[in-house]
Amino acid sequence: MGAESPKEECGLFGVWAPGEDVSRLTYFGLFAQQHRGQESAGMAVSDGQHLLVFKELGLVSQVFNEATLRTLQGDLGIGHTRYSTTGSTTWENAQPAFKTDGERSLALGHNGNLVNTAELAERSGRPAAATTDSDLVAGILARRLEAGLWDASLAVLPDLRGAFCFVMMDERSLYAARDPYGLRPLSIGKLPNGYCVASETCALDIVGATFIRDVEPGELIRIDDRGPRSASFAESPRKALCIFEFVYLARADSRIQGTTVHEVRRKLGRRLAVEAPTQADMVIPVPDTGHSAAQGYAEVSGIPYGEGLMKNRYVGRTFIQPSQSLRERGVKLKLNPIPDAIRGKRLVVIDDSIVRGTTTRQIVQALREAGAAEVHTRITCPPIKWPCFYGIDMPTRHELVASDLSVEEIRRFVGADSLGYLSLDGMVAATGAPKDDFCRACFDGEYPIEVPEGAGKFLLEQPARS
Ligand code: SF4
Repeated sequence: MGAESPKEECGLFGVWAPGEDVSRLTYFGLFAQQHRGQESAGMAVSDGQHLLVFKELGLVSQVFNEATLRTLQGDLGIGHTRYSTTGSTTWENAQPAFKTDGERSLALGHNGNLVNTAELAERSGRPAAATTDSDLVAGILARRLEAGLWDASLAVLPDLRGAFCFVMMDERSLYAARDPYGLRPLSIGKLPNGYCVASETCALDIVGATFIRDVEPGELIRIDDRGPRSASFAESPRKALCIFEFVYLARADSRIQGTTVHEVRRKLGRRLAVEAPTQADMVIPVPDTGHSAAQGYAEVSGIPYGEGLMKNRYVGRTFIQPSQSLRERGVKLKLNPIPDAIRGKRLVVIDDSIVRGTTTRQIVQALREAGAAEVHTRITCPPIKWPCFYGIDMPTRHELVASDLSVEEIRRFVGADSLGYLSLDGMVAATGAPKDDFCRACFDGEYPIEVPEGAGKFLLEQPARS
């Protein structure tokens, strides 16, 4: 995650492994995916009879401790780290969502964003004052629980439009589902005596699971003591994996579609060196996502790679924000230049994206104040011109600096000596997959799933229609 990337979305984990410490496995699965959401964390477990949920605002390590994990015993569990892409940051909106019909219960974690939330809410009479699309889906499923969560899911999932990966559970079974376009990643792993699912393979690695395969677009999977079962709940019209998973969202050690994210980022940097060369003394990354790409840029350009910016890895989402006076004095919570490393040097600075432009401008200024002779900013994707409606929190079109400024105007705004973006074709080529396997809407405005007017983050917080 670089300086000013769009905000991340959510991390999912699920495990079915009787006899194992499932709450601890879920904890570590979430811990590995902390980068995907830092506002709240939660998990649900079941011992076959009762479903327990624990969730709270904060980082995974702030939410859970030994005592809470000890109370969360069971044979299966799901977990969620959240960044709010719909609804506000409140405890109620933390996940997993929990619903019961009095006899049977379900818990659900969602990664993505639905685009037909209003229609679903209206059609379903908006069950139980849902304030997020995830809570709404959980409520709709709960109404059909008598038939069991498998049948309920097969009936409800085809009506959902937009981006969704779900991990779900009832008292006995773990479920995983992925939208027909496969906008968000979801992988299955094998444990010695069970299975797990995770948004990213780095979470499978941390619990010692062996990667089996990705959940297919339009697929519903159920895992219990009868083993894994699979059904297609909808045809996949085309694939549209969010290409930003490669550019900045996923962790560099995760594998998506069989390719390591680090390798793709290195190729992004290599292509950037060809498309946007410059004369300089040192290539530096904006940590952390810039590292792999900066290596690639250095390899092709022959310009030495170095570290010029330090990131405080423990900032996360701190609840203690700097006061206005500290902010005015330029307190740098996240990134700080290393003056001795950069003084007098012409720098190529590799970052993953420019959103509003304000953070990039601060970085350029901080590097100059620390003694850089020249700052050449290079971005590993094309200009972001369109907002995302599929689960990545971006500002409105109006606030995106590239929506109405040319590259030269953005360069002037951020104060860099030069500015270069990677082309769309260059970015796609680095993935090794065809262009039409990806959603690239924030760059080219071609939304793979139609976005109805009024689809926005706080949709369900408006008064219900009568
Ligand atoms: S619009 Fe951009 S950020 Fe959103 S899913 Fe598509 S590629 Fe990803």
